[in-house]
Amino acid sequence: TNPKPSYRRILLKLSGEALMGDEGFGIDPKILDRMAHEIKELIEMGVQVGLVIGGGNLFRGKGLAEAGMNRVVGDQMGMLATVMNGLAMRDALHRAFVNARLMSAIDLTGVCDSYNWAEAISLLKSGRVVIFSAGTGNPFFTTDSAACLRGIEIEADAVFKGTKVDGIYSDDPVTNPDAELYSKLSYSEILDKELKVMDLAAFTLARDHSMPIRVFNMNREGALKSIILGGSEGTVIDH
Ligand code: UDP
Repeated sequence: TNPKPSYRRILLKLSGEALMGDEGFGIDPKILDRMAHEIKELIEMGVQVGLVIGGGNLFRGKGLAEAGMNRVVGDQMGMLATVMNGLAMRDALHRAFVNARLMSAIDLTGVCDSYNWAEAISLLKSGRVVIFSAGTGNPFFTTDSAACLRGIEIEADAVFKGTKVDGIYSDDPVTNPDAELYSKLSYSEILDKELKVMDLAAFTLARDHSMPIRVFNMNREGALKSIILGGSEGTVIDH
């Protein structure tokens, strides 16, 4: 018999940087295909998957503003970058024979659907991957905020944040070999220890609505599936 997943519905957040691989900019199709494959495994287990993708591999409003651009315009470019990543991810999912729908918080008629909560829920229930792009639709927010917001809206069991390291450490594991990997932390421990998980707006939104955050290594093949099946990889943040 097939093992039973420990999660019914998740919101998976992938940073834009995760998509660029070693390229330094843009999208690495090999990485995209691997992620589509990992998401397919979850769908086949009956797990409902909402996806939020960042845009940092293409544009970040903050960086553009530091170079002199108006911040609101820069953030609009950043949000549109997440739509481009979303188009690429939807394409990769379709090529892997996974049904997926792309929604955007900014209306882009002819390119993708506009965000619609009720429709998203119904698509998730029918086993479609729903990609939520353009972040929250507002400047001065991040896609981590969008992930927590959409996660709460769709009543996900947890927000899964894919990173380049195994979870949250007591110190930078790259520079400090003694850094300890936490398996479980409370929202207040994160704040007390000043550990960096997400920006504060995103983090406090999750805390205030008791949305658990699971930080895990997206570069480790199979880690996501293992956690879904009850594995203890990564760090869980809860009350
Ligand atoms: N962004 C925004 N509002 C949002 C989400 C994103 O203005 O609700 C813009 C912002 O400029 C941000 C960029 O889109 O820098 C890309 O998102 P993010 O930096 O979160 O991507 P990631 O770091 O996850 O790749």
